[in-house]
Amino acid sequence: MLEIENFIDGEFVSAVSQESLDDFNPATGQKIGNISSSDQRDVDNAVKAANDALAGWSSLSLDERIIWLEKIADALETKKEEIAKVESLDTGKPISLARRVDASRSITNFRFFSRFAKEQESLEFEMTDATNYVHRKPVGIVGLITPWNLPLYLLTWKIAPALVMGNTIIAKPSELTPLTANLFAKTLQEIDFPKGVFNIVHGLGPEAGQAILEHPEIKAISFTGGTQTGRIVARTAAPLFKKLSLELGGKNASVILDDADLELAAKGAAKAGFTNSGQVCLCGSRILIDESIADEFTALLIKEIESMKIGDPQNEDTDIGSVISISHLEKVESYVELALQEGGNILTGGNRPILDGNNANGAFLSPTVISGLDINSRTATEEIFGPVVTLHTFKDEAEAVEMANNTDYGLAGSVWTKNSERGKEFSKLIETGIMWVNTWLHRDLRTPFGGVKNSGVGREGGQWSLSFFSEMTNICVKHG
Ligand code: NDP
Repeated sequence: MLEIENFIDGEFVSAVSQESLDDFNPATGQKIGNISSSDQRDVDNAVKAANDALAGWSSLSLDERIIWLEKIADALETKKEEIAKVESLDTGKPISLARRVDASRSITNFRFFSRFAKEQESLEFEMTDATNYVHRKPVGIVGLITPWNLPLYLLTWKIAPALVMGNTIIAKPSELTPLTANLFAKTLQEIDFPKGVFNIVHGLGPEAGQAILEHPEIKAISFTGGTQTGRIVARTAAPLFKKLSLELGGKNASVILDDADLELAAKGAAKAGFTNSGQVCLCGSRILIDESIADEFTALLIKEIESMKIGDPQNEDTDIGSVISISHLEKVESYVELALQEGGNILTGGNRPILDGNNANGAFLSPTVISGLDINSRTATEEIFGPVVTLHTFKDEAEAVEMANNTDYGLAGSVWTKNSERGKEFSKLIETGIMWVNTWLHRDLRTPFGGVKNSGVGREGGQWSLSFFSEMTNICVKHG
């Protein structure tokens, strides 16, 4: 049984309450750990440590902090396989996915931000009689609150830019997936990373998370999670004038135009729909298809989905693992039932697969495709965040745009066409922060990442992350 304690001032410590929460492997239903259940007292202790460390860390030169980021990346590199295994165990995602996406991106986040920060040129604005120097200062202590779907990937996506800009950190991972954050803290200890610069407070969102939001000495909150929680975060942090970054939910569309390469589009839409069992905020959970190619495309899509292997996440050839928990599985299943009530037809999936051995009691749902639903139905407009996609047909591009935008969310989407110029122009009409043409989840970390409408406020990535984790000040020096 793993004991997951808070990491404060470079040491592992139990919660002040001495209480703990259970951590489960969702693919087996077995308990794998006890997690410290923290409250405001633990956050106070973490803030004290972060405060004590701030002057030392922020006074290092950028080059010195970059060297630390590289050391962290090197140390994580040696644990890549362990990260993948632990992430797979904690989330139920396939080991191959955890290796390819979670572990490798967690390392890349440090490599990327160390290089990117180094490349930044100083900003100066010349006047005839003065020069303006734009100076970046750290924000101070920052709070990072992250979800369970890409635990270390998303946490390090925030840690790396926060560190390189000279901030100290209080992190709260989801209590459903604390293991890789814990492994990360151990790694920092092993490389003698300065104490107090990075702290973890484990526990429940409404307790540990809320205490981070409310703490007056935490000057910025970078939050990734659901839209409902995002509202609470905004409501709490805004009156305290904290800097806020909100990366929230999505109900993204994959749009198949009449001139698409149908084989490519079917593979792409299947990947967009079912990667990580549909539990990626960017997943394309609505597939919109030109009616002239709908039958041919749907047949290819179903063939692709039915070829995906569902089962033990630790097996190398598993494509689809479990969802995050039995209670989440029940929520996803309730949407399948709702879809039937709303007049939908299940084309494939919709059931729990029969698995043997340890996985018999895991939180598995077969990849599910539903057609026949109205585009305004609840199933087609609410975020399900599971292995369920709905199919809808359109008669022309104008209707496709209207359907794609028919949601309160606005995170991402993809469009599939042999004409990339057409794809680009179509993308401009879609109310989302990110569009992909003939691809999905293809990321250049320099580009802006974030949503519009109820999918969030602010952007992460490249210069946007560096700006969020710094305060820009202007110094105007009169000539002579
Ligand atoms: P939640 O919003 O439930 O939780 C996110 C984090 O917030 C967790 O650490 C949670 O803690 C914490 N939290 C919950 N309540 C509070 C509170 N009152 N104060 C402070 N923190 C709180 O999201 P999920 O973990 O369920 O993640 C899934 C959601 O995340 C989906 O909607 C998905 O679309 C979105 N997401 C968005 C991404 C983006 O980049 N836009 C990327 C990935 C996911 P705890 O778990 O302990 O309750």
